[in-house]
Amino acid sequence: MTNAPLPKNRDPVDQDQFLSILSREEALRRFEAALFPRPVASEPRRLSDALGCTLAQDVVAPIDVPPFDRSNVDGFAVRSADLSGAGEATPVRVKLNEEMIACGTAPTRPVLSGTATSIATGGPLPRGADAVVMVEHTHPSGARAIEIRRAASPGQFISYAGSDIARGEALLRAGTVIGSREIGICAACGISEVSVARKPRVAVISTGDELVQPGLPLGPAEIYDTNGAIVAAAVSENGGEAIFLGAVADDDEKLEAAMRGALDGCDMLVLSGGTSKGAGDLSHRIIARLGQPGIIAHGVALKPGKPLCLAVCDGKPVVILPGFPTSAMFTFHDMIVPVLRRMVALPPRSDARVVAKVPVRIASELGRTEFVMVSLVEGDGGLIAYPTGKGSGAITSFAQADGFLKIDALADQMPAGTAAEVTLFTPHVRVPDLVIVGSHCIGLDLVTAQLSRTGLSVRSIAVGSLGGLAAARRGECDFAPIHLFDDKSETYNTPFLSPGLELVPGWRRMQGIVFRKGDARFDGLSAQAAVRAALADPACIMVNRNQGAGTRILIDRLLGEARPDGYWNQPKSHNAVAAAIAQHRADWGMTIAPVAHASGLGFIALAEEHYDFATVTARKQRPAAQAFLRALASDESRAALEAAGFRKA
Ligand code: AMP
Ligand code: MG
Repeated sequence: MTNAPLPKNRDPVDQDQFLSILSREEALRRFEAALFPRPVASEPRRLSDALGCTLAQDVVAPIDVPPFDRSNVDGFAVRSADLSGAGEATPVRVKLNEEMIACGTAPTRPVLSGTATSIATGGPLPRGADAVVMVEHTHPSGARAIEIRRAASPGQFISYAGSDIARGEALLRAGTVIGSREIGICAACGISEVSVARKPRVAVISTGDELVQPGLPLGPAEIYDTNGAIVAAAVSENGGEAIFLGAVADDDEKLEAAMRGALDGCDMLVLSGGTSKGAGDLSHRIIARLGQPGIIAHGVALKPGKPLCLAVCDGKPVVILPGFPTSAMFTFHDMIVPVLRRMVALPPRSDARVVAKVPVRIASELGRTEFVMVSLVEGDGGLIAYPTGKGSGAITSFAQADGFLKIDALADQMPAGTAAEVTLFTPHVRVPDLVIVGSHCIGLDLVTAQLSRTGLSVRSIAVGSLGGLAAARRGECDFAPIHLFDDKSETYNTPFLSPGLELVPGWRRMQGIVFRKGDARFDGLSAQAAVRAALADPACIMVNRNQGAGTRILIDRLLGEARPDGYWNQPKSHNAVAAAIAQHRADWGMTIAPVAHASGLGFIALAEEHYDFATVTARKQRPAAQAFLRALASDESRAALEAAGFRKA
């Protein structure tokens, strides 16, 4: 990997934005060089709040543990010399002292020769005694005496003072991360407060006019602030104290005031958004006014994450993460976590890794270190890593992903079949019991819910019908849900099967014209009449579907040669069609009934689409596959599917 800045992008706008794009390694090196070495601030912390903190000083034992000689068993404190002649045939009788030493009871009477004192486990040894005899090895002899039939060695069943921890002993070293065991050691020597590395206060600010905090209603063109929550949690996970300051509008004055306020009270500032082209990009200009040396790197050869901006303002790190949540998360973990952990004297993260085979070629941009999120499934020859990314704008890839792999900046692809190292998001691999790869449908969740209740884990990876079929042919999934219409035979799905695959009927999804309720152009008409009415009105805008979608074939048949306004808007999902109409970006389109109803839209039924499962014959007998088939056939599924607007095949 090169340390020199990578070639500049020739686009003049871009050049202004990212003056010099640094390699990941060089950006991190310069950032760390501007921040370290620096002393780690420490603070006293109550033991009960110290979990996860790093010790700033050695912990030295202030007392002996145990603090006194104590008995390890329930029995009698004796003088061992009294028992030297004791044996089965020669029992020794000793008198009992008028005292019972329980835990927490200080003895008051000495054990004189020929006597013993009753003592409980943990009780302090009385003066004169040098051994303990187990109660099991004694016999009562009259009211206040016992008989002992075996000798006792000096020190028997005694823990001496300081035998566990000796006063003055270094118990824990500075730099140790405090866990429950460390807390236990401190508690045992009476330490209630430790000196820990002070958690850096990390201010977190989201930027963007469009951001709304979760819990509040979403207005038109608004989205929920995702990065605020991600970054605050990631800061806490890595030893910082997150101070979330909310989302600030893209306004120079407001943003500068917020950033100055944050730096006044905190040790570090992490912003997100406002780093791409256009109206944004305010924050990096503000940084230049906040302190020295200012921006260290603006533009890093990372994907996702190119617009990352790293700065240091008068000793405090200031970071602007890219706006897209996936990009924000990756850049934070890759570039910011190492710095944050160093600030709080935590060791570098040690994430678990596994090797898995990549089933498809993954294209990658030359010159940028690329992170690709993957789902792991168990294939015939070991683990398989399925890329789950829907692009850096998608947040769902997180939920489906088990980890990520890295494609080197100097590679323009990762070929299919590569054995790649996957960094896990969790400490252990969790391969799912059942793998479903193909087209996603909300009906699928209704069926798999039954499996989840029985403890079977299901992974469904949405790659579309054709992607699902390819995965099934490679034997990487148990079922591939598909809804492919064959124009020639005018049938669904069966013509697309290949040897080794068979079809399991799923359900039917009614497709039809969708429009806003109350639109007089469509209300009460047949599908054909509705389309005629739409074509007759030049102000009426449609939303189409992508080439290759079964729905698209139906639309084209209804339209004939007509190409109305909106024809070229061709989203890839039923939901996107409904959203376009609900949000008045279009007036009509074609989707499935459950989606139209869920969006509160009007619907005119036209034809049923077949949503079935291609199953891999060789995997069909697996217990999880059988469980899925049972769930699919169950009355419960039928009822749930019908309630959601599907018709069971
Ligand atoms: P920006 O860098 O501000 O141009 O943002 C790039 C993209 O990320 C835009 O689609 C933003 O709406 C989105 N985005 C920015 N900040 C956030 C955030 N805090 N949560 C979710 N999405 C965001
Ligand atoms: Mg923005």
